Amino acid sequence: MSTDARKLRLLMSLRRSGVTDAAALGAIERIPRELFVPDSFQDRAWEDSALPIGHGQTISQPLVVAMMTAALELNDRRKVLEIGTGSGYQTAVLALLSRRVYTIETIKPLQDEAAKLLEKLRIHNVTMRHGDGSLGWPAQAPFDRIIVTAASGGEAPKPLVDQLGEGGIMICPVRRAAATSELGQMMIRVRREKDQITSEDLWPVRFVPLVTGSPAAKTDKRIGA
Ligand code: SAH
Repeated sequence: MSTDARKLRLLMSLRRSGVTDAAALGAIERIPRELFVPDSFQDRAWEDSALPIGHGQTISQPLVVAMMTAALELNDRRKVLEIGTGSGYQTAVLALLSRRVYTIETIKPLQDEAAKLLEKLRIHNVTMRHGDGSLGWPAQAPFDRIIVTAASGGEAPKPLVDQLGEGGIMICPVRRAAATSELGQMMIRVRREKDQITSEDLWPVRFVPLVTGSPAAKTDKRIGA
């Protein structure tokens, strides 16, 4: 089957699963997911599944990327903070739909690989940092949107909630007691409105853990101009 046919099949499956957000679907159609997937998984690049990217990490499932992207209500004025760059795939999707994306990754080789791919795709509105994303990026705060792609315990990390601007939306997977979700994790959406913080449960998910206390940020890397 050609890449185009596989791509079409994936987009149809995302729609069948209830994704209606045209911007999110359009971005998934435009970003070549095969570039973000290791050679040994090329034939599965357009399947709706998470795949290993080395270092014990995974590229997120397209359905989850689509749903998280839609839940963020993006537009080209939004300044977005992403925690967990990983392969850079979700970063690329966000970059197409936002003004600028700041993204933090704790595993340096993954960050380097993601930086190369974004340059190759001529995505120039991403700034990267190596370090512990659970602390956020105070120098660039506040953010209109925050997306966390690794699961934290109980609730969203407080430094991130603090760096969410007025009218801001954050989505973040959190660990829950097995009784409330069969997978033990829940995607939550946090909103800040007039200094009121509200939180709602979205859907059960499964993410790798957010690892805290990793090396402090060293260098910021601005992609492109
Ligand atoms: N959105 C990514 C998902 C990567 S998996 C993709 O689709 O490819 C989650 C990533 O979070 C991993 O790369 C992991 O190394 C990173 N991570 C875990 N804890 C972190 C932390 N405290 N700060 C920054 N990144 C972290």
